[in-house]
Amino acid sequence: MRRWISETNYNLDVSDEVKRVVSQTVTELMSGVSDLSYLVTLLEDQYQKAGNDPRVFGMYSLYLINSIVEALDIGSDVQESDSFQLLTLLNCLPMKPGSLCLSQLLKHVEKYDPDTPFDMKTFDELQLMIIALDIGDYEFAEEMADSIKEKLDSSQSELLYVFQMHYAILLNHKQEFFQQLIAWLSLIGSNLDSSDVNRTVYLLLRWLDTLDWHHDVDFKKVLLLKIYKLYPYKKNLNTAMLLWELFRLDAKHVTPSEKMQFVKKLIQHAKPLMHVQQLQSIYYFAGNYSSGIQSRIKESLTYYQSSNYYLKKSWDLLRDTSSFLRKYASPEQYVGLMDFIEEKIVEFSNQVSLQNICYMETLEAEYTKIEDLYREVEHLSLTDSLTGLRNRRYLDNNIYHLVLLAIRQSVPISYAMIDIDHFKPVNDNHGHQVGDFILQEIASILENGFRKSDVVIRYGGEEFLVVMFDADQEWAISRAEKLRNEIEEHDFRFEDRSFHVTISIGLSFSNYTAGSEPNLTLSISEADKALYEAKSNGRNQVRIYSLEIQS
Ligand code: GH3
Ligand code: MG
Ligand code: MG
Repeated sequence: MRRWISETNYNLDVSDEVKRVVSQTVTELMSGVSDLSYLVTLLEDQYQKAGNDPRVFGMYSLYLINSIVEALDIGSDVQESDSFQLLTLLNCLPMKPGSLCLSQLLKHVEKYDPDTPFDMKTFDELQLMIIALDIGDYEFAEEMADSIKEKLDSSQSELLYVFQMHYAILLNHKQEFFQQLIAWLSLIGSNLDSSDVNRTVYLLLRWLDTLDWHHDVDFKKVLLLKIYKLYPYKKNLNTAMLLWELFRLDAKHVTPSEKMQFVKKLIQHAKPLMHVQQLQSIYYFAGNYSSGIQSRIKESLTYYQSSNYYLKKSWDLLRDTSSFLRKYASPEQYVGLMDFIEEKIVEFSNQVSLQNICYMETLEAEYTKIEDLYREVEHLSLTDSLTGLRNRRYLDNNIYHLVLLAIRQSVPISYAMIDIDHFKPVNDNHGHQVGDFILQEIASILENGFRKSDVVIRYGGEEFLVVMFDADQEWAISRAEKLRNEIEEHDFRFEDRSFHVTISIGLSFSNYTAGSEPNLTLSISEADKALYEAKSNGRNQVRIYSLEIQS
């Protein structure tokens, strides 16, 4: 079957005659005259011609809804009537005696139908009908509808209005499409008459919600956005419903980031305009979105918390609903309803485990990330960024413990203080980049020239300290001499240029007996003194700290 709505230009495939009649009917609706019989006969005829394909019926409905939307005048100055407020109360079902919602409803109904006493029993049946529709027990909903029909008359205009709206939804489930179409149009007609635009839009949205969109969800999106745009700066029940419908669209038609935009707008909406289950869903989505797509863990946990809060509220509501049903439905009816309640329970408990899993996964990811970060920070804080060697902080924090360990095992320690000779002129004459390169190269020569157990530290600008464990004087001197020689002969090549440098080394030794307190500062300053000696003695040499130097 060919697509009957194109994505960009949603011209519906309807005959000119239908177009003419619809346009005339809509004009009539707007002016309060509404004889739908001709339109209905015409549509019925077309529907039969199309072999009673429900999609053709859907197309007529869409065409009608779209035509009504186009004829509507929702200015920014649209006032919210009291009668529109009634619809917000439908989020509070079931209303228990003494509840705030019920007293609001009573006040409302009293105001609009002052001459008719409120019949609580009929209202309870109406509640049962709406709940049954919601949980999917249409048989029971119809039973209630039949009973209510006989009791409500036009003097109870407000309850009748709520009833008729839900009856239209029931007709849809019974696949009585034409009856449904007439029901919606009659409701809309009576509203346009009293020019409550908000209520009309609400009806259109409820109507839209009943339609099966098949492959034409794009059109639904276009239509919803179109209505949404009619509401400048409004935060009311209709914009909440619109955003919710947009949010619920198939992932094929709405990207996650678009969904997140709708969610953000919904969260800004006054919460009472939404059902707890809707709130739970949007916060759950937001939690997944911010942990999965944006990696904003803290934000996602906040969303999950809200979603858990509303999940708990949804459970409470389900319990309330169940006890309401037990109280007001007959035992046989209640048994029938239980199947549907059980389905809801399964749905909820699945949601609980899903949410827990997501929450735990997010926490786990967060924990691993923190651990990795901690390791990285620790590493960075003890590492010199230019050479990758240990830095002074490492010396202050870690070496002391290593030395203690060495003392306990009576292991000799040697210290080598190394300084590059005449390094300043290298920088001054060839640039800092060359200086940096030489420092890096020397750092790697140093690292390769000692054992893994020795610690090479970038002590200052062009000064290095090597702490050699289990290294006696003889071994340390030979290492130092070898190193000095290696650097002297090393060809430092930077951008095809060749450089040569030399180093001076001062050595000191400590041979503690077990139990003695190490004096690192002393050992380092001794090595430093020996280095000074090497410098003043002509550089490019190894000197050993001795008492003569000290004096
Ligand atoms: P001496 O033989 O007496 O040690 O002479 P020197 O020029 O090496 O000594 P001085 O202490 O006067 O200069 C050290 C120079 O090391 C100063 C600075 O230009 C250079 N230097 C220190 N740190 C860095 C660095 O991170 N990068 C570069 N490129 N140069 C550095
Ligand atoms: Mg130097
Ligand atoms: Mg120096």
